[in-house]
Amino acid sequence: GSNAGKMCVLVTGGSGLVGRAIEHVVQEEGGKLEGEEWIFLSSKDADLVDVGQTRALFEKYRPTHVIHLAAKVGGLYLHMKSNLHFLILQTISTLSFNIFCLVCPAASKTTYPIDETMIHNGPPHDSNFGYSHAKRMIDVQNRAYFKQYGRRYTAVIPTNVFGPYDNFNIENGHVLSALINKTYTAKKDGTALNVSGSGTPRRQFIYSLDLGRLIVWVLREYDEIDPIILSVAEEDEVSIKDAVEIIAQSMDFKGKILFDTTKSDGQMKKTASNAKLRRYLPNFTFTPLKEAIQMTCSWFVANYATAR
Ligand code: GDP
Repeated sequence: GSNAGKMCVLVTGGSGLVGRAIEHVVQEEGGKLEGEEWIFLSSKDADLVDVGQTRALFEKYRPTHVIHLAAKVGGLYLHMKSNLHFLILQTISTLSFNIFCLVCPAASKTTYPIDETMIHNGPPHDSNFGYSHAKRMIDVQNRAYFKQYGRRYTAVIPTNVFGPYDNFNIENGHVLSALINKTYTAKKDGTALNVSGSGTPRRQFIYSLDLGRLIVWVLREYDEIDPIILSVAEEDEVSIKDAVEIIAQSMDFKGKILFDTTKSDGQMKKTASNAKLRRYLPNFTFTPLKEAIQMTCSWFVANYATAR
């Protein structure tokens, strides 16, 4: 067609946490190469659960590549109350089309660290089984598309992502963003900071801009159909309590920190191996967690009026 030879990348979920990070990498860090077109879409542009609207979008832009980030996302507590919605929305938007997707480590009774060969092993954690089963199907679909049509789709598996433009909602947000908002509010009101759960679960956190850089690399350089985990090292896993302390320090919060153990801890850990990533990119430097949390806190304070 008329687009021959020209790379056109369609990014769904373009206004979310990861989409904004990719946009920054592409527009501000020289990620975009001569002659390339990058289109960032949000839910306002089309409802991707609607096949007709989705097809119209593809006919309009005729992309050569798609980074499919659009998804229903939320923290532990939103998952626990809406497993069915996560299952349905994820399944529909994945099966109607998908070139390149974002999934999250799923296994629950497993050995650690979890690597790319283990994502289908055993039932997922009960707190997010809807989302996890749907996300596993992305990998199944990618392999089937390759076998039957020779199409080269892959999936990336990031660990817990955070950064500017995240959903900072106290009820539904992921842990760091919800806690940044809670800390801001507690400081403003002179109240205690309420952390949900015991503070002992451990997570690997990846800064959205690091993830954005890695996804652009995957798009250009990574040729496998098999998925790749995009994560900091196992040694960089921290407890929720450690993370809370970094947030309190970053926001200069001096009040009381309470741990509400009547709230669920979710999965105690989901340690992922980044050995595969390190074989490809031994020298990639991740932003140190403290620095990344500080930048996210500053962004949240500066954008409080418009942050979600
Ligand atoms: P997960 O990694 O998929 O479980 O999702 P989250 O990013 O929501 O992290 C959940 C972990 O953080 C659990 O161990 C929670 O107990 C803990 N946590 C502590 N305070 C909060 C909070 O305010 N919001 C959320 N979402 N999690 C919290």
